[in-house]
Amino acid sequence: MTPDIDLQEKLYIDGAWQRPQNGGVLESIDPSTGKPWTGFAVAGPADINAAVDAANAALRGPWSRFSPAQRANLLRRIGALFENQGEQLAVIESRDNGQLLSDMRNVMRGLAEYWYYYAGIADKLEGRTIPMEDGVLAYTTRVPVGVVGAIVPWNAPLQMVTWKLAPALATGCTMVLKSAEETPVSAYFFARLIEDIGIPPGVVNIVSGLGATAGRHLVAHPGVNKISFTGEHRTAQDIMRGASVNLKRLSFECGGKAPHIIFDDASLPQAMNAATHNAFAYCGQSCALGSRLLVQRGVYEQVVQELARRAERIRVGLPDDPRAQMGPQNSEAQLEKTLGYVDIGKSEGARLLAGGRRLIAPEFANGYFVAPTVFADASNDMRVAQEEIFGPVVCVIPFDTEDEAVEIANHTDYGLTAGLWSQDIGRAHRVAARIEAGTVWVNTYRYVRWAIPYGGFKLSGLGRENGQEGVDAYLQTRSTIINLNGQYPDAYAN
Ligand code: NAD
Repeated sequence: MTPDIDLQEKLYIDGAWQRPQNGGVLESIDPSTGKPWTGFAVAGPADINAAVDAANAALRGPWSRFSPAQRANLLRRIGALFENQGEQLAVIESRDNGQLLSDMRNVMRGLAEYWYYYAGIADKLEGRTIPMEDGVLAYTTRVPVGVVGAIVPWNAPLQMVTWKLAPALATGCTMVLKSAEETPVSAYFFARLIEDIGIPPGVVNIVSGLGATAGRHLVAHPGVNKISFTGEHRTAQDIMRGASVNLKRLSFECGGKAPHIIFDDASLPQAMNAATHNAFAYCGQSCALGSRLLVQRGVYEQVVQELARRAERIRVGLPDDPRAQMGPQNSEAQLEKTLGYVDIGKSEGARLLAGGRRLIAPEFANGYFVAPTVFADASNDMRVAQEEIFGPVVCVIPFDTEDEAVEIANHTDYGLTAGLWSQDIGRAHRVAARIEAGTVWVNTYRYVRWAIPYGGFKLSGLGRENGQEGVDAYLQTRSTIINLNGQYPDAYAN
């Protein structure tokens, strides 16, 4: 599959490819070269209006007549596309967001399972009957929230498309999805793939465009019933204000600054594997990573030295190089942000043990490559420990007691994920129960699956994706009460 400029310069609205009404086109940059590699359409308000109209027409028209089993069947077909065409999707995704091709292959394989899981749920969205007095039948039905505006970030585009669209289609919603301006291409390839599988026009609309214009317009549009957003919490705050116009339902998956705790009774070789991988996987550009490594004093210096040694050995390379273990940052802005935080960490007095620089060897050309970076002796109040860097930078913080570990872990505005390593089962449960995060991993890390709810406490989000909770976010409950004897007394008879 090769880029199809003609399609990318169009928007997928109402089952057809349409040029933006005011003709906007921008370039998408290849993060490994810093050069444009293709163009993409930029939707304006008129295009968003057209997409929302199409989504409303489909919601009330042909899509409403699809049975749950028919919807399930479509989801299974999309899952099969991820299995059968995963290689092409991985190639596009890797080129557009700079993540390693090998990682993207694994991601595409895993995404098929999300579609199959929600296919299995689509015909099991049951209501309840509620016991009442004789002569009254009360029951609930679960109905789709309606038209969903989905807004996704650049770090994991097709994963975010899947996490939102699969439950939305399972429940009978329709969607206008806006891709991120840094990574618009894979969503279009996805649209091309699903074009011919039998989804009625208008059910899935895919547009690219800028957050400040297309995104905001979608959020404020009265024809949209819900916004499902993944990205920065500051954007979520802006969305919350804009969505008040018709009290849209909201779900947010935002950032993280996860505590990854190593107690001195941990199995150290396993903990080291996890600590290293979950500092630098996806070049540090995943919300779930353990970017605050909390290490108990007894093993602190050993962990710090080993982490620095392993970081120095990570093979940074081009995304399609099978030997590469870490790719570039996604954009120049992200590169500058990461390097800016390296300066901040140094000025705050954290001990730089590895990395901390841009990689400028000839093979990296003008790509956005940064060396895996380790700061030791960070204190939790430093900006590098509190703010989401979203680059390959880990801060190591020492602690003495279990209480202190919990205190440091929770002292953050975020609460998405956390991990802990201990062979003491009592401690593992005790600490897991006290951590303020939507997901806690014990003796593992970043185990994320279709059936397990995922989402944040505090500034890390609102609501949950995946699992049963993933469909709840796209449903509302209707209570129906039926008077079985047909009598209604005259309240004004006397
Ligand atoms: P971002 O908030 O800048 O942008 C995300 C999307 O929102 C883009 O499509 C953008 O165009 C759009 N947008 C921007 N401003 C908008 C506005 N005012 N109104 C409507 N839409 C607007 O985030 P980003 O930099 O693309 O992504 C990185 C962030 O995403 C990080 O904080 C990361 O942790 C988070 N993230 C979270 C998860 C999760 O599951 N919790 C997963 C991936 C990424």
